[in-house]
Amino acid sequence: MSEQQPESVVRAWRDVVATARRSAADGLVVGTSGNVSARVGDLVLVTPSGVPYDRLGPGDAVGVDLAGRPVLGELKPTSELPLHLAVYGETGAAAVVHTHAVHATAVSTLVTEVPLVHYAAALLGGPVRTAAYARYGTPELADAMLAALRGRTGCLLANHGTVTYGATLDQAYERTAQLEWLCRLWLTASALPGRTPSLLSEAQLAEVTEALKGYGQPG
Ligand SMILES: [Zn+2]
Repeated sequence: MSEQQPESVVRAWRDVVATARRSAADGLVVGTSGNVSARVGDLVLVTPSGVPYDRLGPGDAVGVDLAGRPVLGELKPTSELPLHLAVYGETGAAAVVHTHAVHATAVSTLVTEVPLVHYAAALLGGPVRTAAYARYGTPELADAMLAALRGRTGCLLANHGTVTYGATLDQAYERTAQLEWLCRLWLTASALPGRTPSLLSEAQLAEVTEALKGYGQPG
């Protein structure tokens, strides 16, 4: 890259790399699976395909426009770019995190909606749905994901993983961590033979959503 990048782009790329490394360090992804992106105006910075996150430096920024055309960097963007672009196209998201987190992916093979075992589902906008299976990188998967995301800030992808978005990378990441935790909780509670976990009602969850509006920082 010969051109000087704006400070906002430099900072966003640093945050993309830091978030990708965190997802690996926290065990939400293995190797180079999963990917992270952030939007700066009409530019989407995204982790490249197949490069270990600890090898990514400040000079490796990969950027595409909102149609997916390469506009920055030499490396090839992640093959799951259509997922990221679909989220930016349909929501006001500034960041997207996609992982193959093990508990969430396990749950994606079992249910079409994560059972309401905990009010943490309110952090994702309500009961988390599972998008129908389609091959990675396809428009079909992006469409299935958008349907599952309606009114939510995260979903599962059947037999594949998770997608969450947010106003910041930290928020998108936090939602992924909460979703993985929620799925782990349900699997744990479901593991006792002959016992079925009790669930919250939609009304109880709505009550939490209302209460959360006055809690912590907005967004
Ligand atoms: Zn994936």
